[in-house]
Amino acid sequence: MKKIETEFLIIGSGPGGAAASERLLNSKKEVLMIEEGSDFSCNSFKLNPTDEMLNMWKDAALSPAFGIPSITYAEGKCVGGGTEINSGIIQRVPEEVLNSWSKLSKIDGEYYLKAIHEDYDFIEKKLNASILQDRRNMHSEMLKKVAGLNSWKIDSLPRALKGCTCYEPLCNCGGRQSMTKTFLEDAKKDNAFKLESNTKAIKINFKKNKALSVLAEKKINNTKEKIEIHFKHLCLSAGTINTPFLMMKSGLNFKGLGNFQLHPTIRVLARFKENIEAMKERLPDVAITEFMPHIRFGGSVVSPAIFGMNLSESWEKRSHLANKLNNLASYYVMIKPLSWGKISKFAFINSPFVSYRLKKEDFSNLNKGLIELSKGLFELGALEVHPSIKNHEGWFSRKDLDKNEPVNKIRKKFNLMSIHLFSSCSPLNNFENLLDFGRVKKVKNLFIADGSTLINAPGVNPQATIMAVSRRNAESYLEKVNG
Ligand SMILES: Cc1cc2nc3c(=O)[nH]c(=O)nc-3n(C[C@H](O)[C@H](O)[C@H](O)COP(=O)(O)OP(=O)(O)OC[C@H]3O[C@@H](n4cnc5c(N)ncnc54)[C@H](O)[C@@H]3O)c2cc1C
Repeated sequence: MKKIETEFLIIGSGPGGAAASERLLNSKKEVLMIEEGSDFSCNSFKLNPTDEMLNMWKDAALSPAFGIPSITYAEGKCVGGGTEINSGIIQRVPEEVLNSWSKLSKIDGEYYLKAIHEDYDFIEKKLNASILQDRRNMHSEMLKKVAGLNSWKIDSLPRALKGCTCYEPLCNCGGRQSMTKTFLEDAKKDNAFKLESNTKAIKINFKKNKALSVLAEKKINNTKEKIEIHFKHLCLSAGTINTPFLMMKSGLNFKGLGNFQLHPTIRVLARFKENIEAMKERLPDVAITEFMPHIRFGGSVVSPAIFGMNLSESWEKRSHLANKLNNLASYYVMIKPLSWGKISKFAFINSPFVSYRLKKEDFSNLNKGLIELSKGLFELGALEVHPSIKNHEGWFSRKDLDKNEPVNKIRKKFNLMSIHLFSSCSPLNNFENLLDFGRVKKVKNLFIADGSTLINAPGVNPQATIMAVSRRNAESYLEKVNG
């Protein structure tokens, strides 16, 4: 078996791992990063949407969190992780949530009150987080009008974009400032950094209270080569699902590990008289924040495939919309839940089992969001509104909203999804073993730098916070190593 040695091994190349690598390289450390997925950063060709789903998304974007109803969640699986496929919305956590994190943290509560903003400043600058106002965006304007009609608060949504000229909902012209365009591009210029793509960590070997080596598998064409990687220090950045799962697979398991949160999200489709052509517009650059921190509305990514999925939820009632795609706009209601899900490892099964059961209050918030947003859309002149509820009749006027069935009768039919997962290694779930700064009590030479260490659901897009907290975790670990 091939053997490799390095000072720091980082498992996973998403925003958490990339932010940690920047801190380690800045401190003149030697870093090897391994990533299960492929590296698409050098490709001059553009993948078509189907190939992108198959190659860059985990499980082609169809991973289920089992529950009643199940929630479909999506993650990236390529060099750069989720940032290569995401919308690049860069947001700070609202003060109210930061204050609560500060109180919930045992050791580093102060961080959330002040220093996190220095990390946000650094990240926003590096990713060029900005609002592009180079042409009128009807999809966005309509959301602003809904807010205006109701005197609702809105927040702008800066995005990690530079020189984007394509006006596609998710930038497709190379302007997206993903990790391969920023942090990892810089890291690759440093001789102390090495990246091995198509290389999956299978198991961590421990001896007493230290991680000694990682057994990994590198895919080369159709064969797999086994590699044993020895290191002094280990950084886990495999994401919210895979970081705790890898720990469990390696025999490091304790109560509370793998309890996690996500932002349950439901879509709403609305037809207007006007030609909106949402598929030819950038993602709306505002979100309605009137009902935050628990409920947020915004404009969704739209594509023929997504419209197709929405129409098929209730084909009999929605098929007439198939030739009216230019008049459709798509919105989402996202909640900060009270519920927690669970990532489990079962004997002889090589994939994580993920389950999530929403609480009654979460369904109430989703329903409240659907009704309030739909009222706003009718005020704006929507001709019909269709929530992502299977076999739903659709609402054709504001009055129809009053006839809606009680939420406890229809909640099983909610078609929920999530693209934001976190907190599977949160100290909240086991103060004894999961320590602040991404540390694990039983393993001295390991720290975690990814979404799994967020205290709980942030209620906003998480990438910037994952990067800030990962920077902080790496800094704190370095302070310990450097004495
Ligand atoms: C469609 C979509 C849109 C989104 N839009 C936004 C947005 O606009 N703004 C925002 O803030 N957030 C957004 N998000 C969420 C954001 O992308 C994620 O929260 C973020 O990428 C998580 O970062 P991470 O470092 O924790 O994990 P990830 O980005 O998931 O990175 C983990 C990496 O580790 C690799 N890995 C896993 N297991 C192993 C292993 N055993 N060995 C080696 N490598 C492994 C994975 O392949 C992956 O590349 C979006 C997500 C999606 C899916």
